Amino acid sequence: MSDCIFCKIIDGTIPSVKVYEDENVYAFMDVAPLTKGHTLLIPKQHVKDLFEMPEEVAKNLYGAAPKIANAIKSAFNPAGMNTLNNNDAFAGQTVFHYHLHFIPRYDENDGLKVKWETK
Ligand code: 5GP
Ligand code: ZN
Repeated sequence: MSDCIFCKIIDGTIPSVKVYEDENVYAFMDVAPLTKGHTLLIPKQHVKDLFEMPEEVAKNLYGAAPKIANAIKSAFNPAGMNTLNNNDAFAGQTVFHYHLHFIPRYDENDGLKVKWETK
């Protein structure tokens, strides 16, 4: 899509810091990281959100996810990591090319209020 900034990142028109790439997906550093190492994983095919994602695209994207999580873990040594994805403006989506956020977490004072209780 010609007016999509993430399609422009894939074709190199907009520069990005690459974390991982294969024939189907591209991962790069978020320009405004919530924590050190905040990375976005996107399909090379323009897909608006999870609602519109073909199964094959999902398989390729989520198939690559553990590699990206482990690459970030190796590089930044976080204590944990959140992955999340916003679908549609009401849910906070601002770029309408699907992206999965990888947000490394460091300690209770890493500045992020996003926290899910597990017990
Ligand atoms: P959303 O709110 O749609 O889930 O997240 C969009 C994300 O894309 C934000 O975290 C924002 O910082 C990031 N972002 C927006 N424009 C650019 C860009 O041009 N380059 C990079 N690397 N990240 C971007
Ligand atoms: Zn796009």
